[in-house]
Amino acid sequence: MEATLPAAIGFLAEVRQDDARPLEPVFAARGSLARWHERTADRSLHTALVHSGAPDEAYARDRGRTLVLAGELYNQDDLIGLLPGRVLPGSDAALVVALFDVYGVHAFRLLNGRFAALLTDRGRAVLATDHAGSVPLYVSVAPGQVLAATEAKALRAAPRGRPVPPGRPLRRRPGTHQVPAGTVLDIEVSTGKCAAHRTWTPPLARRILPEDEAIDTVRRTLERAVRTRTGAGTPLVVLSGGIDSSAVAALAAGRSAGPIDTVSMGTDEADEFPQARVVARHIGSVHREITVPTADLLRGLPRAVWAAECLDPDVVEYLLPLTALYLRLGGTGEGGDTGRRILTGYGADIPLGGMHRENRLPRLDTAVCHDMDTFDGLNEMTPTLSSVAGHWSTHPYWDRDVLDVLVSLEAGLKRRHGRDKWVLRAALGDVLPHEVVVRPKLGVHEGSGTTSSFSRLLADAGVPQDRVHQAKRLVVQRIFDQVVVDGRHPDEVSVDAVVDLVAGRPEHDARPVPR
Ligand code: ATP
Ligand code: MG
Repeated sequence: MEATLPAAIGFLAEVRQDDARPLEPVFAARGSLARWHERTADRSLHTALVHSGAPDEAYARDRGRTLVLAGELYNQDDLIGLLPGRVLPGSDAALVVALFDVYGVHAFRLLNGRFAALLTDRGRAVLATDHAGSVPLYVSVAPGQVLAATEAKALRAAPRGRPVPPGRPLRRRPGTHQVPAGTVLDIEVSTGKCAAHRTWTPPLARRILPEDEAIDTVRRTLERAVRTRTGAGTPLVVLSGGIDSSAVAALAAGRSAGPIDTVSMGTDEADEFPQARVVARHIGSVHREITVPTADLLRGLPRAVWAAECLDPDVVEYLLPLTALYLRLGGTGEGGDTGRRILTGYGADIPLGGMHRENRLPRLDTAVCHDMDTFDGLNEMTPTLSSVAGHWSTHPYWDRDVLDVLVSLEAGLKRRHGRDKWVLRAALGDVLPHEVVVRPKLGVHEGSGTTSSFSRLLADAGVPQDRVHQAKRLVVQRIFDQVVVDGRHPDEVSVDAVVDLVAGRPEHDARPVPR
């Protein structure tokens, strides 16, 4: 049977020319741990893999090369077509290593997926992220060693590495770098010399299409992205009743033999339950509602930062309610301990300018350009948010083909007839009730009351109104320092203590946040 989750959801991999002991694997992602060791004449490869039952499929060896892959591909059929006459690769990892034999590092330009990878090829270590960097990848490089991991905290004890441009140094760990989105780093292990290749960049030009053609293109690419992500088993969609997740749920339901599962979260302060119910009823899903007390939601901040390794307070506010939801989902199977495959409607607003609430097109495209220039490194799409609870999440709107289409449509197709995300709404008009199609955007941080309750927590601690945002930044930063840089477990971190510290030291507010 086809597996529900990818073979691996995270890794720590060490390519070394010395005999030093491998690092202790530390992950927020929850799964089984498999270790693996391979030695050749001139180097050793140690890996620790977070997996869900089939770790062997996360490795592939071919012609002296070894590949470790966390995540999955969505265009296998196209890729297999590039390998005529070969034995069909049995896993995504095997497919990538076979493509590498034909295309070298340029194989990574062919992939549409959600993955991070490390490949050893004689004296080289090749690191690759997907187009969106949706599975974060960190690296520490010194002559004779390349250490890479899907979570920065796993490299905490790594010896201080050298700069690997265009890698981004980690806060307070400048020897650890994050591999940018859509990038291959080709590193000579003996010297640490690194060559970088971009494999994807956001489109800069805009396509002019007749309405019908634009609608049809969006529908087809989104349908494909949903189909390639649903895998075996019953899909689960995290559903707010907003257009983005309702579209994904409707398309998933449309191709499913039985009812799909949907789930909505709310707090004791706010929810979108009635709106989500309308969609669930319409598509016939088995629907659940989960209410998280606001105090528990805010107490979950350290866990969300631990999972996302994110320093941006706005992004953390989007991710916090989702982490809280994932942690309360339960699984399938006896004891509910088997992870679910989760589809989200996350990220549609970035290429469509959905957060932009006015009619002026130049401003809309400015917002799209800005967001596409600055998404990298925020870890907004990280699967670790759900894998802290043993689940695998995937985002059809950040499928490479969907993203290419959405970004590149001219702004007048994104905002039209006074509606935001017009082309998406028009593309789903036949599978959703009209009230859903025209429902104005409501961000997850708003619909769950996360922004307001986090603000109130700080105001109650004495932070003046005009400093609340900066105080949020400092709270997130202090939590990041503890759970990512210093390696503490999130359960050991008290949000109240951090808030008191930040609120009690207003002189810190004026300081720029170091990067
Ligand atoms: P819109 O942007 O039009 O409000 P949306 O609610 O689907 O559509 P976002 O608000 O951007 O999208 O939220 C991002 C994603 O997070 C959603 O698509 C959905 O998958 C998930 N999500 C948001 N709010 C909830 C919620 N209350 N319960 C479950 N999932 C949610
Ligand atoms: Mg919403």
